[in-house]
Amino acid sequence: MLSEADHKHMRRAVELARMALEAGDDPFGSVLVSGDGKVLAEDRNREGKGDATRHPEFDLARWAATHMTPAERAGATVYTSGEHCPMCAAAHGWVGLGRIVYAVSSRQLRQWRAELGATGDSPVRPLPIQDVAPFVKVEGPVPEFEDEVHELHRRAFARKK
Ligand SMILES: [Zn+2]
Repeated sequence: MLSEADHKHMRRAVELARMALEAGDDPFGSVLVSGDGKVLAEDRNREGKGDATRHPEFDLARWAATHMTPAERAGATVYTSGEHCPMCAAAHGWVGLGRIVYAVSSRQLRQWRAELGATGDSPVRPLPIQDVAPFVKVEGPVPEFEDEVHELHRRAFARKK
């Protein structure tokens, strides 16, 4: 279902997640691609310094609001290693961005955390993107990236213990 270009952009999002992990942040990465296939911006999680809103999807939504016309935003795609959280899904919806492709779902991430023995609830309810931004076209998970993303999260969790 995903094109070769989709895979290339997803590969980059997962690479950014790995860079985030290696920099001491949580392993999430995202890429913003225009309707005609150009990479416009990319970012990775930057929560390590203590600001838990520094999710790449949120930063890309704000970048898009500053640098793109509404029509350009509607035609763009955000590739991301993990499904948007409600904060990021809302930002994506508010700025009118187009399609989202994610490698692993919030449900998978939650299950992995439980399996790793994570305690304590997230302060934000883990709603699926479409419960927050119902008009956004969403594709995911992408099974071929699952093992790699799972491993990044295992490493991140092991480090926090
Ligand atoms: Zn988020």
